[in-house]
Amino acid sequence: MVALPIYLDNHATTRVDPRVVEAMLPYFTEIYGNPASVSHRFGWDAEAAVESARAQVAALIRADPKEMIFTSGATESNNLALKGAAASLRRRGNHLISAATEHRAVLDPLRHLAREGWEVTLVDPDPYGLVSVEAIAAAMTDRTVLVSVMAANNEVGTINPIREIGQLCRERGVLFHTDATQAVAKLPLDVEADHIDLLSLTAHKFHGPKGIGALYVRRRDPRVRLQPLIEGGGHERGLRSGTLAVPLIVGFGRAAEIALGEHTTEVARLRHLRDRLYAGLVERVPRIRLNGHPTCRLPNNLNLSFELVDGEALMMAMRDIAVSSGSACTSANPEPSHVLRAMGLDEDLARASLRFGIGRFNTEEEIDYAIERIAGAVESLRAWSADWSSDPTQPGPRATP
Ligand SMILES: *Cc1c(COP(=O)(O)O)cnc(C)c1O
Repeated sequence: MVALPIYLDNHATTRVDPRVVEAMLPYFTEIYGNPASVSHRFGWDAEAAVESARAQVAALIRADPKEMIFTSGATESNNLALKGAAASLRRRGNHLISAATEHRAVLDPLRHLAREGWEVTLVDPDPYGLVSVEAIAAAMTDRTVLVSVMAANNEVGTINPIREIGQLCRERGVLFHTDATQAVAKLPLDVEADHIDLLSLTAHKFHGPKGIGALYVRRRDPRVRLQPLIEGGGHERGLRSGTLAVPLIVGFGRAAEIALGEHTTEVARLRHLRDRLYAGLVERVPRIRLNGHPTCRLPNNLNLSFELVDGEALMMAMRDIAVSSGSACTSANPEPSHVLRAMGLDEDLARASLRFGIGRFNTEEEIDYAIERIAGAVESLRAWSADWSSDPTQPGPRATP
């Protein structure tokens, strides 16, 4: 028997890998120095651990370790990239470009900048949620100074053509930031080949600890200048002051090392489980729609609309399967997902959607159990739905006793 509940919400966060926990433990107990203490062994050992982790994290995106700034997570990295770059670029222009499908951690800082007088263009995606290089090019003006487009979407998993967008930005002398939080460890990323100037990532989306992330900041060709958001001591090249969270950083590094070392087998495994889930559901449940791109999508993502079913009601009907309807970060408010709406889904289809995120610790047995559970829940909800039973192409509701 599978253990319940089953966690299929790996875009929201992931379980910390036991190997990561093991790597972190000594940094709570024995090696507890402050890496900024330069006068004794405690400080030196902590500093050595931080620098080794910095190299491990940099390797994930083929960056120079000197270009990695540790932050508290991708939300902070996005804030630092957008507000920090905007403040330094103010003399050169007044226009920023991003996309309607971005995470709130990009959209909210952009709204803040718009209130400060910046002109912000949010490009619409295609019906698959893909932000094309043509759409970005069309939005550019000679006052554009920064483009921010996520590498892969956290709701529908669509992968954006960031290399082409990066190339366009480089040609136009515009800085390019990408929120690569969902793409890191799933897709090969290369800040040189992809022409990325700023890149946000976070450990807890790939089996590292919560509360630690990084911002890649290009140091040459071009050298990116940022205004810090947090001042007080000049840590992290003056861009992010505050005592470094050594145990979290060590865990971040170990998670990056594992992700890189096991990339090929892990991605194949995730894809296999995701495809099995999709095939099983399509076979068992009529009238499912796939949201997001059929091929350009994260290997661990599945986003489906179950026609004539409310996603929230469906989740309530199968509480032993942990998934998300819309984005976890916005599910406190009842609005349908801004991503699905930007893709052109009507409100009913957007509300009928569920997001599945497969992770390292999911098994085939869990997927098979989930298929049965979801199919059963959809069937019983539809049996009670007036819309479904009045549809002449569908079998009527079961006879009630
Ligand atoms: C999870 C996520 C974030 C936020 O990351 P935190 O480390 O939790 O702040 C930002 N962007 C995307 C695309 C995400 O999926």
